[in-house]
Amino acid sequence: MISCKDITEKANDYIDRELPLLTRMKMKIHLFACIHCQRYVSQLQITILALRKMKKEHSVDENTVDNIVNNLKNYKQNEPEIK
Ligand SMILES: [Zn+2]
Repeated sequence: MISCKDITEKANDYIDRELPLLTRMKMKIHLFACIHCQRYVSQLQITILALRKMKKEHSVDENTVDNIVNNLKNYKQNEPEIK
């Protein structure tokens, strides 16, 4: 089984559908059972979608958006309670 840490590490690729089918299925099963990861992935998804929309509509610099997403990822990964 994959852990909550795996979910936070792969959440970006999961949202972008850039993972192998087996990995996606394992993540889906974990997400089904784990409310914390469900919240994390849905928040990340909302954030990413909002940033992309912003980028499109207001021509925000692509690097700025990537930096924000990466900061979010790193912030979540460094949270001590997620092991
Ligand atoms: Zn979890």
